[in-house]
Amino acid sequence: MVDQYFRIDQKLLALAEEAQQAASAQFKEIDRIAEHCSAKVLRALQEEHVSAACFAGSNGYGHDDVGRDTLDRVWARVFGTEDALVRHQFVSGTHTLSTALFGVLRPGDLMVSITGAPYDTLEEVIGIRGEGYGSLADYGIRYEKCDLRSDGTLDFDAIPAAIQNAKVVYLQRSRGYSLRPALTIAEIRAAVSLIRQTRPDAIIMLDNCYGEFVDYEEPTEVGADVAIGSLIKNAGGGIAQTGGYIAGRADLIEQCACRLTCVGGGKEIGCSLTHSREMYLGLFFAPEVVANAKKTGAFAAELFRRLGFTVLPGKERTAGDIITVIQLGSEDAVCAFCKGIQAGSPVDSFVTPEPWDMAGYESKIIMAAGAFTNGASIELSADAPIREPYAVYLQGGLTYTSGKIGVLTAAQTMLDAGLISLAP
Ligand SMILES: *Cc1c(COP(=O)(O)O)cnc(C)c1O
Repeated sequence: MVDQYFRIDQKLLALAEEAQQAASAQFKEIDRIAEHCSAKVLRALQEEHVSAACFAGSNGYGHDDVGRDTLDRVWARVFGTEDALVRHQFVSGTHTLSTALFGVLRPGDLMVSITGAPYDTLEEVIGIRGEGYGSLADYGIRYEKCDLRSDGTLDFDAIPAAIQNAKVVYLQRSRGYSLRPALTIAEIRAAVSLIRQTRPDAIIMLDNCYGEFVDYEEPTEVGADVAIGSLIKNAGGGIAQTGGYIAGRADLIEQCACRLTCVGGGKEIGCSLTHSREMYLGLFFAPEVVANAKKTGAFAAELFRRLGFTVLPGKERTAGDIITVIQLGSEDAVCAFCKGIQAGSPVDSFVTPEPWDMAGYESKIIMAAGAFTNGASIELSADAPIREPYAVYLQGGLTYTSGKIGVLTAAQTMLDAGLISLAP
């Protein structure tokens, strides 16, 4: 058993057993979604005739790279789009989002976020925070936002007026470092329909980070023009070592490709080096890995509710991302939790995470990530901005069992520090 190898309080273990039982109905639904998404991926791999030749890789300019071009088509099938751009040359999710925004927007154009303030790192890209050199604002691209309602959901009454002059209507699916719920596919579908009624020609762009394979359908299958994500989160299945993807309408993908490489080169250049096999294998694993991450989150939610904390999302909400937010209420609790997650990791378990000023973020951030891939938050990880309400954002877990052990280590670390108590 786990406690043969890890020192976990017996009462905590009993509570964990109860928490796991309580999560079992959620596990069943998670498995159904994983089965659906795995079938979707498998069928796409077959339909595009993926073969060993696709894994050979290329160097130099990467002309006629069969593996790269086939992967784009597989991706497009999975996401229900005309085309896709899946590249290890994207250095992060933010870079991929930045490429898509700069690819599609022109000076004088207006981008309107209808999910309120965007993810922290996007603020500098847009030019609403920081020096602004080379930001969208620096290029004369305008930005406005339509705030979410007080309950964190889309403000359907305010959206039509807000997007009147928008070239790009931007949605962020995941909650980022906020307490609002992630958008569900049903909400995205409703938003798309409202946007289309108001502004048929607006480009609907969606930050899909942490959202891939959490539900039966992808945002692009319910009408978003373009979806963007990172390969060291959900879509890389814990196997892709770097990269990002943009999936969407063919004309938009071409514009993004011209921004990533150069005008004239577009999608036809960019060698895959040795990354192709891992990107394919990662996509193949992704639905199952996302299921493990969601189970880890569901278990953590049940456990920490029993320990007396408020946890989001509430049980009544369909998941829109893989994040579980635990409101721990103090800096000490947040740090102890992250320390425990780190201690339960397969890599760097012996180091202690400390809050620091991370590039691109406004507050100090503490991050626990003992991952095989640097910064890969599809692996069990926890992070928290050091600010009110001292909520920790937990995500990932390549396997449910390792995720569960990590969550238990976090709880045990808090117990050792006297930050939680267990009823006798
Ligand atoms: C992680 C994330 C990003 C940025 O991705 P990085 O790889 O960290 O640059 C953007 N938006 C959302 C919602 C994210 O979760």
